Amino acid sequence: MAALHDKFGRSITDLRISITDRCNYKCVYCRTGNEGALYGDLPFSAYLRMARVLVGMGITKVRLTGGEPLLRNGVVEFVRELSQLRPPGANHNLDIALTTNGHLLADLVRPLKDAGLTRVTVSMDAVDPDRFTRITRVPSGFDHVLAGIRAARDAGLGPVKVNCVLLRGFNEDQIIPFGLFAREENVVVRFIEFMPLEEDRVWSKSTVVTLEEILARMAEYRPLIEIPRARSETARRYRFDDGIGEIGIIAPVSHPFCGHCSRIRITSDGKIRTCLFSIWDHDLHAQMRRGVSDDELAEFIRGVVEKKEERHHIGEPDFVPASRTMVHIGG
Ligand code: SAM
Repeated sequence: MAALHDKFGRSITDLRISITDRCNYKCVYCRTGNEGALYGDLPFSAYLRMARVLVGMGITKVRLTGGEPLLRNGVVEFVRELSQLRPPGANHNLDIALTTNGHLLADLVRPLKDAGLTRVTVSMDAVDPDRFTRITRVPSGFDHVLAGIRAARDAGLGPVKVNCVLLRGFNEDQIIPFGLFAREENVVVRFIEFMPLEEDRVWSKSTVVTLEEILARMAEYRPLIEIPRARSETARRYRFDDGIGEIGIIAPVSHPFCGHCSRIRITSDGKIRTCLFSIWDHDLHAQMRRGVSDDELAEFIRGVVEKKEERHHIGEPDFVPASRTMVHIGG
């Protein structure tokens, strides 16, 4: 099968699959705190078939996400089955990553690694335990998450990435403590600019802590030196001037990287989304329910990917909010 490209010539190599719409955290910048899951999920066999067809079309990286993916029973077995898929012509395995809030990670790290997981990203928006609780609205989560990060690092699922979304007036005072955390815990801390993808619609340009501000704030502790990166990498990468500790900054608002976006997503209920900011999605699972063949499924996917959006329009007057918020897409 020919590799997947959109009409702007971008090749699509990364797939994110949300395996559940449920989440055990209620992060204030993400969820209202009143809504639970809004969408159902599918048997793992359905996600596996979608992934198999897509790997045959050039997908080389699969990231499991949610909701909170570790809430889903059977995730270890699913990783084992995914790890049997081989990109055509490649003599290496599929790259299988996980994005998690880390709450349930410590006990699952070993089985996940043994099943074939290659990388873990843990979301953590404060290194101060009280602040962490105020953000997640779940008591005593911090110790669980820290244990999960350490277990992942010690199991060799590294370099473990710790993603922190910054929200002005809320946690930008955590920037320097996170710099220390990266150095002390030997993890890559990545700051992410807040995007208008929250349930509560509190986003405005002024809530975004930008790349330049992060660099300036960190320089009050120690300067960061940029590391060359591959064009396809979404994060700009930095090292502290003494070579100890890596920091990443993902700046979709102040420095959009849509021009080299290589991603598509499948939601927990089996819809393809070609952009986080898509205003519609495409029902892949409905095609499967109709009994189509793998070739017909591939044709459907090709038609959808062809129409991938050129770019997001965050902050522009013509911005139309996405049809789903981040937790219901799979970040
Ligand atoms: N539960 C998993 C977790 O916590 O990583 C996976 C789902 S969560 C929605 C994925 C990521 O999206 C998290 O790192 C979260 O901080 C991030 N996120 C949620 N809302 C966001 C927003 N409006 N802008 C930027 N990132 C956001």
